[in-house]
Amino acid sequence: LPSGSSKAPKPSFSKQDLQHHEESDFSWSKEVQGELMSVFKLSKFRPLQRAAINLSMSGKDLFLVMPTGRGKSLCFQLPALCSKGFTLVIAPLVSLMEDQLMYLKSIDVAAVTLNASSTKEDSKRILAGMIDKNSPFKLLYVTPEKIAKSKLLMSKLEKAYNMGLLARIAVDEVHCCSQWGHDFRPDYKLLGILKRQFPKVPLVGLTATATSSVLKDCEKILCVQNPITLTAPFNRPNLYYEVRFKDNENFTDDIAALIKGKYKNQSGIVYVFSQKDAENVAVDLRKQDILAQPYHASMQPSDKTLVHKHWASKKIQVVVATVAFGMGIDKADVRFVIHHTISKSIENYYQESGRAGRDDSPADCIVFFGFMDIFRISTMVVMENTGQQKLQNMVAYCQNVDRCRRSLMAIHFDEVWNDDECDQMCDVCRHGNDYVTMDITKHAQDVVSIVEHASSMDEKLTPLKVCEAWMGKGPAKHRKTITVTSLTRMEVESIIIHLLLHGYFSEDFSFTPYTTHFYLKLGRKSALLKNSSHSITMKMRRRLPSFSTVKKVSEYDGEKTSAKVKGKRPAESDHHKSVAKKVKKDTR
Ligand code: ADP
Ligand code: MG
Ligand code: ZN
Repeated sequence: LPSGSSKAPKPSFSKQDLQHHEESDFSWSKEVQGELMSVFKLSKFRPLQRAAINLSMSGKDLFLVMPTGRGKSLCFQLPALCSKGFTLVIAPLVSLMEDQLMYLKSIDVAAVTLNASSTKEDSKRILAGMIDKNSPFKLLYVTPEKIAKSKLLMSKLEKAYNMGLLARIAVDEVHCCSQWGHDFRPDYKLLGILKRQFPKVPLVGLTATATSSVLKDCEKILCVQNPITLTAPFNRPNLYYEVRFKDNENFTDDIAALIKGKYKNQSGIVYVFSQKDAENVAVDLRKQDILAQPYHASMQPSDKTLVHKHWASKKIQVVVATVAFGMGIDKADVRFVIHHTISKSIENYYQESGRAGRDDSPADCIVFFGFMDIFRISTMVVMENTGQQKLQNMVAYCQNVDRCRRSLMAIHFDEVWNDDECDQMCDVCRHGNDYVTMDITKHAQDVVSIVEHASSMDEKLTPLKVCEAWMGKGPAKHRKTITVTSLTRMEVESIIIHLLLHGYFSEDFSFTPYTTHFYLKLGRKSALLKNSSHSITMKMRRRLPSFSTVKKVSEYDGEKTSAKVKGKRPAESDHHKSVAKKVKKDTR
């Protein structure tokens, strides 16, 4: 295997090897299948799970790279139940361990944790259990710090090893070993001691995000020799990805029309931004005779369970949910996931939309992309270090008109995507070339000068104010200095987004005790616009994609500089009224 490449890791063993390990005629296969159904209550394996389990049961060292939510944990939890002794699980965060322990408890699997907050009695009981032939627990979760610092733990591990009770070592989030990964944790560097002391115990490292160079590094740090790497491709070929613009305030009607039309009698999820949105949109859909219920973090646990149950059994068709609706959803026949508001990152979007089509039958993932939503989310993620960058990537995904949607997702999984493989399963590939390239230099100069002028007068402008001023609807005092545009609202919004994504504008946050405001300020590249040779082009959608309000565009003036999107001019939207409204912590 070549090292140092930044490409996706390739399986280090052949297709036949993999096929062989996909078989179910190993000595443990019956038991494994039995526990899958009786304990985990799952009907079948997802891709690579069976192979991973068989390899690990055969005693091989293994790296498993699979997108989040695809079911990596099962690949060590299930073998743990089918092996003598216990499995040692290393996880980076106590909260991650607690999630897994809670889940294991709910399905009656004996699992324990040793961490800084364990009581003396608990620790004593657990350390004794490690060398008890009756194995009172099948999984022991510890932090890497514990391995590094507790000689007592190491001595018990050694004893268990000698007694043949240390069945397996699982290192969750294994990329944390490597400084080249995105989440390096120094204590992970010391985990090599495990394989050096206990060479006969098979190790499995799990991660959603590791390039082959990071995996090579992990291999060295963990002292495993020639592990087998299994990589699940990120691509979900049965999912159709589409982005629609919110070009009027009635886009919820568009969503209702879809649910009553194309998705009649089929189950789906509508993801919304806030708890309030969840309640409101559910009411709107019910008004249109759609069986919809909200789901969010502030609801009573019993109500949440009920909504989930009714949805699973098709008593209701749609759950209108915040991101709180996610954990433990394994309904297979979800035919659509509609985003009423964009997600805060592509990773989040991939995960949320990925709840569609788990039965491998075709399903649709549609995002409704609205200008003002960008700033609502932007202020929400203002505290996160990489929050703006991640949001910008999501916005770029929506704004994109010429690249396969999958290619933009692939970047996040370190994969190289060949657009031909999409098979018209995204709107861009299906409607190819439905855009025009515009020279927007003059427009950019005009709109940037609005912000520049305002700032020279010590005035801050929200994105909405910028739109309105540019379209000639601002306060009279500005009008003399503004070149009013004849572009449509959609075009105005698209151009402002483009300028934000490309550094001509940037975010200017302002905090009040109750809310965070978003203003536009000049970006690092805005000065370039003074330079007469500097030009900006952008690709803009030719058709207006919101289907119900727009007649088909049959012709357009292909003029580079004055290309215009034809179709109905969007109604002046009142829903744009409040800009950076109060951002409450009600988005789950
Ligand atoms: P990861 O660690 O890869 O992010 P998890 O192990 O936490 O993912 O699993 C995510 C979800 O997938 C869990 O709710 C789990 O129950 C579910 N899951 C795992 N394997 C299967 C399967 N074979 N069929 C259905 N659901 C599964
Ligand atoms: Mg996991
Ligand atoms: Zn495509």
